[in-house]
Amino acid sequence: MPKKFVSEQKEKLEKEKNKSLFQIEELKKDDPFTDPDHASDNAAIDTDVREQVGHDTIEAEIKDLERRVMDIDIALRKISKGQYGVCERCKKLIPQARLRLIPEAAYDIDCEKKLRK
Ligand SMILES: [Zn+2]
Repeated sequence: MPKKFVSEQKEKLEKEKNKSLFQIEELKKDDPFTDPDHASDNAAIDTDVREQVGHDTIEAEIKDLERRVMDIDIALRKISKGQYGVCERCKKLIPQARLRLIPEAAYDIDCEKKLRK
């Protein structure tokens, strides 16, 4: 992998990571269950249902973002080891076009497809 490309990718990954961490914090603030008044309120049942749905959606989004942060961390670790862009399954180089699209990609398209089956 060309050094310039890798350093650009590293910058992109770090930006994405910060963005995701920020979004996680924002989502946590939106979660009705983290509202300090929640436990003591005597809301009607339909409000509780709405809060439950809101909580579940937010929790799912947070999980997705946390998974993304983990993938980004793995990619960043690979960069520091000089192994960035190597497919974890077949050890071939992942095409730069794919890495530009998904900087944290751990597999090339062929392996990704096979793993998803
Ligand atoms: Zn592969």
